[in-house]
Amino acid sequence: PPRALTRHDPGTIAAWDADHVIHPWESMGEEVTDRVVAAKAEGIHLYNAEGRRFIDGPGGMWCMQIGYGRREMADAIAEQAMKLAYHSPWAFASEPSALLARKLAQMTPGDLNSVFFTTGGSSAVDTALRFAQFYNNLRGRPEKKLFLARERGYHGSTYLAASVTGKDRWKNPMDVERRLVRFLPDINPYHRAPGQSEADWCDEKVEDLARAIRVEGADTIAAFIAEPILASGGVIVPPEGYLRRCAELCRAHDILFIADEVVTGFGRLGHWFASEAVFGVVPDIITCAKGLTSGYVPLGAAIISDRLIAEISGEDRAEVLFKNGYTYSGHPVCCAAALTSIEIIEREGLLEHVRRVAPHFQARLRDLARHEIVGDVRGMGLLGCVEGTARPDLPEERRFAIDQHFGELVDAACEARGLIVRPLLNMCVFSPPLIISEGEIDEMFDILDAAIGEVQGEML
Ligand code: PMP
Repeated sequence: PPRALTRHDPGTIAAWDADHVIHPWESMGEEVTDRVVAAKAEGIHLYNAEGRRFIDGPGGMWCMQIGYGRREMADAIAEQAMKLAYHSPWAFASEPSALLARKLAQMTPGDLNSVFFTTGGSSAVDTALRFAQFYNNLRGRPEKKLFLARERGYHGSTYLAASVTGKDRWKNPMDVERRLVRFLPDINPYHRAPGQSEADWCDEKVEDLARAIRVEGADTIAAFIAEPILASGGVIVPPEGYLRRCAELCRAHDILFIADEVVTGFGRLGHWFASEAVFGVVPDIITCAKGLTSGYVPLGAAIISDRLIAEISGEDRAEVLFKNGYTYSGHPVCCAAALTSIEIIEREGLLEHVRRVAPHFQARLRDLARHEIVGDVRGMGLLGCVEGTARPDLPEERRFAIDQHFGELVDAACEARGLIVRPLLNMCVFSPPLIISEGEIDEMFDILDAAIGEVQGEML
């Protein structure tokens, strides 16, 4: 038999894992003893401990831009770790964080020039929201504190970021802060009434925001937070013009517009950031993480506009601290990794590459709609989602099974054929490494096509 890629027997690793690791979103009801043990990765492929190879459809968790196994990344990380592994972010400046902040200021739209480094996406969102509160306190508007967010939005797992997350709120046994947040209804165009045009749907969704502002009063609202494309909510692409009109409404009512670009940043849609390049919006704050380092090490950032900083600065504010900070803010090793990942994206023209291959990716995705069990396919750039749907004439249990388990069933059928997908109830989402070639896109969708065919054969 082939030698395992791990020092310990894969079954033993899985057992230790089951005994001692609490995984994110772990079920407390069942112990998973047969979790795939990931052991190695290269390019767009991940290998399990037995050496079986899989295409990484979700690109880690929407984060693996430049592909796995880059010697250049390992060298940059090792070099920085040897030279200066850490420094206090309060006491010192250093070359990696200064260079990276300057680079991000150049990449972001408008006057977004000030960067607060965090440890990931949740802490970036937390920082952005706390900044919005701080900003209004300093402006003498302490009553302007509410956050508007959206159903199906995902913004993270720290307390405040989880509180603006709109997924499965009513089933959630975890506490969140409810007094500070108001949710706007689902914006998924797939859920609009039969016969309603996308333009009408857009009007309705912008009106949802306008109504929330009327009902709550602009004087009580600090910020509106939105993912340009709702990623883990099911790759929901907003109707044309929606984001721009929302941003305009916010601006007119002195409400900050926070674009959570944790997924859409760093080339996923063929641009460094999607807000302006794709949706024509210059946000007040952008949050990012994931693709910033291509997932090699953890790092996030909240990037804030000069206008906001200027409004709350001044000689009389010398004693006022933005009391938000992490031991690892601007970690030199992580910033060095981010600089190298960005350099690779630039040198290899990966933004242009994504713009070139995305139409093929999207065409193959749309082609899956011919399966009867597929209700909707949607996406943009190298983001995609397949949503399963049950025919109304099917028996109740069968409809329920498709609504709850389509994703898992397709996942299992794909895994058997060498493709990892990310199942989410009745959906599967994709965001492969940006380096994926047209041939590999075909390989991925051929597997998915066969897997969906198999699941359909079993379920219909
Ligand atoms: N915002 C968005 C849009 C995300 O998709 C995620 C992670 N899936 C986060 C924030 C949270 O990031 P992290 O898991 O790095 O804390």
